Amino acid sequence: MDTVKKIDVHAHIRMWPNRPMSVGCILPVAEELKESYRELNVDKGLILSIISPECQFSIQPNEEMEHIAKSNPDSFYWCCNFDPRMGKNSETTDFSYFLNYYKERGAVGVGELTANLYVDDPLMDNFFYHCGECDMPVIIHLTPKNGGDYGIIDEMGLYRIEKMLKKHPKLKIVGHSQYFWRDISENVATEKSVYASGKVNGGRVAELLRNYPNLFCDLSAGSGFNALNRDPDHAYRFIEEFSDRLMYGTDICRAKQETKLAAWLDESYANGMITRENYVKICRGNAIKVFNLKNEKAE
Ligand SMILES: [Zn+2]
Repeated sequence: MDTVKKIDVHAHIRMWPNRPMSVGCILPVAEELKESYRELNVDKGLILSIISPECQFSIQPNEEMEHIAKSNPDSFYWCCNFDPRMGKNSETTDFSYFLNYYKERGAVGVGELTANLYVDDPLMDNFFYHCGECDMPVIIHLTPKNGGDYGIIDEMGLYRIEKMLKKHPKLKIVGHSQYFWRDISENVATEKSVYASGKVNGGRVAELLRNYPNLFCDLSAGSGFNALNRDPDHAYRFIEEFSDRLMYGTDICRAKQETKLAAWLDESYANGMITRENYVKICRGNAIKVFNLKNEKAE
């Protein structure tokens, strides 16, 4: 089967082995992540840092990601990351100064944004404005919970996300997490589990993708996989319609972590359910465009 090598837009890593980020969470080091990549036929990965205190006991500076990526240039790109409260906890903080600084040092985007603030909080609004001005796509982790969780806050329906997409047309938001993906279907209100099951109908994710060209989707983790796998017939139509907006990802957070999306995409392509053109776009082409990875070829 002529599979293509993938670009992973979402992975976590640590410079040092055996340092817990939170209870029981030991991130992989470079060699461990590369081992997973060899098994998954992943060519390159974007490494994302954890920078907000919510649910974490150790904070990763941008310099850690930069150092790992520059020590492993054949395997990793890196994203810088900020908490919108940084600086003076002010809605006028000049994040462009730092976004441009890290961009010049090689950062290709921002993420993963996990601050537990409302998506349209003035601090977030300011941060998103600067990300748009600096052309730095932002990978977000979404939650509906204010407290007791990590992630930027929006309720079912993603109306606060919509407000930011509309207000900041230059901003590229890359949606991620179980609470983003549950809105792939309109019947979420009746679902007890955030990993909703069953047939997909309507759904705000598709509506937002249709209305806002600045929204993209990160298919990583159990959440991205579940959004496709719960209703494969819908998934193939979704992929066909939004083939320019979906990106492969793993969200690997530990050594030897199992992820299912690569095999699902390879099989769907092999079975003729996804065209070659769309398969290549999702596996790597869209990541190259969105994160402006100039040295990568689409195939
Ligand atoms: Zn993540």
